[in-house]
Amino acid sequence: MDTRKIDLHVHSTHSDGARSVKEIAVVAKKDGIAAIALTDHDTVGGVAEAEREFKGQGIELIPGVELSTGYKGFRIDILGLFIDPESAEFAKLIGVLTGRRERRAETMAKGLAGLGFDIGFADVKVQQTGDVIGKPHVVKALLSKETNIARIKADMRTAGIEPSQPAIREFVFSAYLSRGKRAHVSDEQQLDPKMAIDAIHSAGGIAVIAHPCSEDYEISEDVFRELVRFGMDGVEMWGGAKSFDSLKWLRDISDELGLLKTEGSDYHGYGHNDHLGFHDVERTRPIRYEVMERLRDGMAARKE
Ligand SMILES: [Zn+2]
Repeated sequence: MDTRKIDLHVHSTHSDGARSVKEIAVVAKKDGIAAIALTDHDTVGGVAEAEREFKGQGIELIPGVELSTGYKGFRIDILGLFIDPESAEFAKLIGVLTGRRERRAETMAKGLAGLGFDIGFADVKVQQTGDVIGKPHVVKALLSKETNIARIKADMRTAGIEPSQPAIREFVFSAYLSRGKRAHVSDEQQLDPKMAIDAIHSAGGIAVIAHPCSEDYEISEDVFRELVRFGMDGVEMWGGAKSFDSLKWLRDISDELGLLKTEGSDYHGYGHNDHLGFHDVERTRPIRYEVMERLRDGMAARKE
């Protein structure tokens, strides 16, 4: 049996992952991962580096991206796999998304400053490690100042919450940045999935619905079918599926519609979900190389 593993959904420090491309290459080599799709949020900035680092470790690279979109009230993440990172058409979309992310982070910082916190957009920029800026950097900037932490702790005590270390971060999200709270910035300007699919196709890639059976990204069957009509090529199986029933539904509808199937761990490299090449943290369900072979066969069959 081919015991090699793969992972077709991996994030690095180029977006919100904890590990650099180089570190991922080392971990992958050690764990016997034969192929990896680097799928950072809204950027292909890590692909060139991955080409070098992965080759050095004998790991196959699938250049990818993950685009966040919104449609009919659903949040839909779309993976682009086998994309050409040099595509000019694709670069245009990335430029638009980068601008939006910057404005959103700036508005969030302003909202927090409006609540009396010591934070400006410059503080957020300092926290940015990769190509994209987002909510985690805003939170990091907020928590980088003692005066802010003291104020958050006071707010927590008022709310009857013990200000322990992990609880502070959660409180920032829930008390200031979540929907209905004063520093919340809505996602109304979300990318349309059709635009994301078209951009991925223009860069020669395949578009795949990420984790459609997980709690946060569950979509209705109507919307699922609409996405396929928009040109969606495949689905990510497993992907934190909340139940075997939903997984069975996904398998059946994908077979009916002739969709490609990918598998990945949505690796971010933080200790608690440190499971490159596996569907579960306990490492009982490996992602086998045969997924890759079936995917390639499926792609070839679609081209005929
Ligand atoms: Zn992801």
